[in-house]
Amino acid sequence: MRPARGEPPSTLPFLPDLRRRILFLRNCKMATERTYIMVKPDGVERRLTGEIIRRFENRGLTLVGLKMLIPTRETAEKHYAVHNTKPFFGELVDFVTSGPVVAMVWEGPDAVKLTRQMIGATKPADALPGTIRGDFTCDMLLNLIHGSDAPETAAEEIALWFGENGLAR
Ligand code: UDP
Ligand code: MG
Repeated sequence: MRPARGEPPSTLPFLPDLRRRILFLRNCKMATERTYIMVKPDGVERRLTGEIIRRFENRGLTLVGLKMLIPTRETAEKHYAVHNTKPFFGELVDFVTSGPVVAMVWEGPDAVKLTRQMIGATKPADALPGTIRGDFTCDMLLNLIHGSDAPETAAEEIALWFGENGLAR
């Protein structure tokens, strides 16, 4: 039925469709992705682990793996292998092996892109307020947190840090 003149259009006719779509998305495994997230040594030292977990939980993501460890140089070098020709590589490996990190796997729709947005840009001046980096750091190296940049790298990083059977599910 058309709404009377001047009345806002009713969304009622779409409701059954919307409900079906929401239920579908909830059960849809295809929409679900996993990503590797790591609170770096500066984030742990600054007691920001809880704040970071809270943000991802509030957003609706699910924590499916969590552990604290001091990374070996070998693991750190493998993790950052893509940067091994860059001038900051040595300093980066020194930094990430300098203390405990909190290694996590988070799951949810579009988890890689969603968490990258919440983390904020690498360059401090581009990290917007409201993002983790934008709210808590202005340093390019000491930037609190790592997040996978694509589903393929996420799979590699999850395997590197948690092994094949390291997750509860
Ligand atoms: N990094 C740095 N100097 C740079 C670029 C990166 O110290 O010019 C460090 C920084 O800690 C960053 C990490 O190297 O998080 C990996 O760099 P990448 O470009 O992959 O940034 P990210 O994916 O973490 O945003
Ligand atoms: Mg990166």
